[in-house]
Amino acid sequence: MDKQKQIVMSGIRPTGYLHLGNYFGALRNYVKMQEVYPCFFMVADLHSLTTHPDTSFLKENVHRVLAEHIACGLNPDLVALYCQSHVPETAELYLYLNMLAYKGELEKTVTFKDKARLHSENVNAGLLTYPVLQTADIILHRASLVPVGKDQEQHLEMARNFVQRFNHRYGQVFPEPQAFNFGNELVKVPSLDGTGKMSKSENNLATLYLADCDDTIRKKVMKAKTDAGPTAPNTPRPDYIENLFLLMQLVSDSATIQLFEEAYRSCTIRYGDMKKQLAEDMIRFMAPIRDKASQLQKDKSYLEKIMKQGAEKAGASAAATMEIVRNAMGLNYY
Ligand code: ADP
Repeated sequence: MDKQKQIVMSGIRPTGYLHLGNYFGALRNYVKMQEVYPCFFMVADLHSLTTHPDTSFLKENVHRVLAEHIACGLNPDLVALYCQSHVPETAELYLYLNMLAYKGELEKTVTFKDKARLHSENVNAGLLTYPVLQTADIILHRASLVPVGKDQEQHLEMARNFVQRFNHRYGQVFPEPQAFNFGNELVKVPSLDGTGKMSKSENNLATLYLADCDDTIRKKVMKAKTDAGPTAPNTPRPDYIENLFLLMQLVSDSATIQLFEEAYRSCTIRYGDMKKQLAEDMIRFMAPIRDKASQLQKDKSYLEKIMKQGAEKAGASAAATMEIVRNAMGLNYY
């Protein structure tokens, strides 16, 4: 297929504040892709119900996440930026795909097992079929490129399986979706405590949120785990130190990174200095996004206009796909 014609789709759940992982895993690619491809980007409010059934903060979160998308550089006139629940065709396609997804494979999904452990009081069917809903979101626009972080790799593999099954049974309707990152390897931004990834809803102190104020960023970075430093030249870096370098690579210039890499190699590194530098570079990077997002968030009528405009674009694309789907499935009786 012509690369220019490939369609892009991705989504982020409004379960809390967006963080550096969302930015480098997803949003950074969105912003680059909007110039090249037709793009659909969604606030995944229905997905958030699988783990966050209390909707009292949902509206506020949806508004903030939308504002944060735009503050990161997304142009709502160029892309379809919309809310998942504004496109009801999603639920219809989800229903059809559920008939092609098997209990055994869903139960084996790593994210399902993790979430079931974390939310053991609410292991609902929506949580189990999360990858099915995600597939519906993507293929509703017949998208094939999905900018996501590394944690989504398995979901995309499942999406390809569901698509293959659909196409095999009902005819060649959908392209097979691929996880996408401009830098080849999918990104995983590590949490500051060295355990797992930064995440919206868990380990708040080890995650840098785009809305964090300068002092909070400093405090969190300074708390990151370190040790007394290497005692012999060229010692391999422990995970938590490697993570600090990884974070530095995201926001610091190459001369700064080289300086600390050299200091590590020669056992003269002072982690206090490294973290101070990292904190200041983070602030330089994050503060403009934070300030712009907080401005945009106050303008409710602008955000509502954006949502309506996005829903229209996404709705038109969804309606066209569902017409093809119903015909392919033989659900066309008159
Ligand atoms: P969260 O896990 O924080 O709730 P979502 O599940 O809504 O985030 O994921 C939104 C997007 O952000 C997905 O593309 C996901 O891969 C990406 N993402 C989330 N956390 C990270 C991370 N720590 N590193 C890289 N990408 C991430």
